Amino acid sequence: MLALRWYGDKDVRVEEVPVPTITEPADVVVKVTGTTVCGSDLHLYHKEILQLQKGEILGHEFMGIVDEVGSEVISIKKGDRVVASFQIACGKCQFCKEGLTSMCDRTNSSALQEKLYGKPFAGLFGYSHFAGGFAGGQSEFVRVPFGCFNLLKIPDHVPNEKALYLSDIVPTSYHATVCADVKKGKSVAVWGLGPVGLLACKWSKLEGARRVIAIDQIPERLALAQDMGCDTIDFSKQKDLVSEVYRLEPQGVDCCIDAAAFRYTKTLLQSAERLVGLETDSSEIPNETLRAVRKFGTIAIVADYAAMTNQFLIGALMEKGVTYRGCGQAPVQEYWHQLLEKIESGEFDPTVVLTHRFSIEELSDLYEAFDKKKFGLMKTYVQT
Ligand code: NAD
Ligand code: ZN
Repeated sequence: MLALRWYGDKDVRVEEVPVPTITEPADVVVKVTGTTVCGSDLHLYHKEILQLQKGEILGHEFMGIVDEVGSEVISIKKGDRVVASFQIACGKCQFCKEGLTSMCDRTNSSALQEKLYGKPFAGLFGYSHFAGGFAGGQSEFVRVPFGCFNLLKIPDHVPNEKALYLSDIVPTSYHATVCADVKKGKSVAVWGLGPVGLLACKWSKLEGARRVIAIDQIPERLALAQDMGCDTIDFSKQKDLVSEVYRLEPQGVDCCIDAAAFRYTKTLLQSAERLVGLETDSSEIPNETLRAVRKFGTIAIVADYAAMTNQFLIGALMEKGVTYRGCGQAPVQEYWHQLLEKIESGEFDPTVVLTHRFSIEELSDLYEAFDKKKFGLMKTYVQT
């Protein structure tokens, strides 16, 4: 079968590899029909994630048709059309029982993650050995551990394009608004208008936010946010972004969402070899959010940061009584039934961010184009 494999900084290749098989009784093998490239994949592309190994199959957002099931798999059968959660949870540990599936205790035993963070979080498809070393979905077939828990059956009347992003960005963007405490009548500001940030703007509008301020520098993305009824700020045209936020919201913003990314915030993750004694520099978005947030407001980070940052404006955090929340990887399984309902009812259409279609053979070119944000590229549907 064909799969996209990582070989080094900006070096990904589509290659022929063996088809995965059932190795555990709870496994399901899915024949992938749709996959995509996520903003998170760019961190891998740029070698910003620890413990990447040459030859790893990338991709964590995918859907397909069940091809084979293990002996313990009951609720899923061959031929079912399914979406996979990007994070892999067992469904049975204490964290999973509490609905904190992205914190599952049983699917990632990375010693390095334990050393850095105290405890590892759940494994992720196609996201390095730091996240469990699971082969990903930019591939024609994928082995899905704990298949009954990590796959969602999709009703016939929901088209692939509307279902695919339930794998990651639909629950992730929703989770960001939950973590930022977005409610009717509040003001919201979103840094980063990739698919995650734009859908967070859309969820905030749906929730009845009074004002949504959308921040980026890419004209097509700012235009999409404007179409959703957001106020927009092109940060590249501002001497002081925060004063522009205060011009729109004189008391500061109730809910700030950081949906950009650490590589944009100058917080550089060093290579695995330099992990101990990691050097990083100041991170502008965390400090911008700390200054822009209303007193006693909430900041949620949904963008993937890793390791450490210095020069963090801790004074604002304390003196303004800010709630500063890391979202973690979104607990997809906790949200996806209710979010599927909103898609089915037409209340929420994730395809507003779908701009281009590709085939699996074109995947490595797609990484390059996505990285350069070429031709207004936003979110893709990659047919396998
Ligand atoms: P993306 O790369 O398409 O979008 C990031 C956007 O941020 C770009 O449009 C860029 O122009 C903008 N940006 C850069 N610098 C900025 C700045 N200083 N201020 C404001 N905007 C700035 O990515 P995406 O797919 O939308 O993902 C966004 C982030 O969310 C990534 O870091 C990704 O890894 C993360 N993510 C997290 C989860 C989770 O579960 N926590 C899941 C998926 C993605
Ligand atoms: Zn678990």
